[in-house]
Amino acid sequence: MQLTIEHLSKTYPNGLKALDDVSLQIPTGMYGLLGQNGAGKSTLMRTLATLQDADSGSVMLGDTDVLKEKDKVRKILGYLPQEFGVYPKVPASDMLDHLAILKGIINRKERKELVEALLQKVNLWEHRKKAVSSYSGGMKQRFGIAQALIGSPRLIIVDEPTAGLDPGERNRFYNLLSEIGENIIVILSTHIVEDVMELCSNMAIIHKGKVLYSGSPVVSVEAMRGKIWERSISKSELPEYSQKYQIISGKLVAGKPLIHVFSETQPESGFHPASPDLEDVFFAKIEGLA
Ligand code: ADP
Repeated sequence: MQLTIEHLSKTYPNGLKALDDVSLQIPTGMYGLLGQNGAGKSTLMRTLATLQDADSGSVMLGDTDVLKEKDKVRKILGYLPQEFGVYPKVPASDMLDHLAILKGIINRKERKELVEALLQKVNLWEHRKKAVSSYSGGMKQRFGIAQALIGSPRLIIVDEPTAGLDPGERNRFYNLLSEIGENIIVILSTHIVEDVMELCSNMAIIHKGKVLYSGSPVVSVEAMRGKIWERSISKSELPEYSQKYQIISGKLVAGKPLIHVFSETQPESGFHPASPDLEDVFFAKIEGLA
């Protein structure tokens, strides 16, 4: 199954164009939607999750019209929103059971087996009797995946899932996502470049509602080879270099800024060819350099 988005646009009543002619082909597997805050990711995610209408364009999931056949889509959709709202003070297993009823699984035995399997899958079995409200950030996100998996969805949408997770929790969450992303479409919306590089075989970069790149992260990084130059400078030189060059990224290495500059040729002596990464691609695209 494939998700095909064509010419999707959305302008909010205040005149803000959150989606501007977005077209994407999304195959099964993990798909990264990478963009800064305000890029339009949540607007796109909510539209795909049938929670919001677009002004124009079409979205097909296989032969199902996502914008028109909303009930049909909801049966094959799992959604983990950015803000899950307030969790009630009920045990995780009861909460999942309740959500399964809402998804139409009325057979008690079937539900019991499903809830057990889901809790095992997301590694929360031993915490099943604790209230979800008492969970850590990582546990809440794994619970969110468990609820999104109810009803064997064909499409899972996960909005900014790793924000606020510590590295250990993030790793566990990555492993879980890549496991479930093998046979279904999982769209991961994020502003964190590593999320996409580590997990996604395909991605899109979205900026101000527009798609600036779609394709393989690895291919996009390879295309930058030979065009990214780095140089270690002192902090006091930073303003001068910022004026002279378009610095696409800068990080501190041992207290000194290591700057990356996009250029077809060596900018000046002292710059060395850098091994490009997805962050270079991301900033070069949104700065309109590549
Ligand atoms: P992202 O998820 O990438 O941070 P959003 O889709 O939330 O981006 O927002 C895209 C743009 O649309 C932002 O500029 C945001 O302020 C604006 N926006 C989002 N929701 C609304 C709304 N309901 N009304 C007006 N503007 C909105």
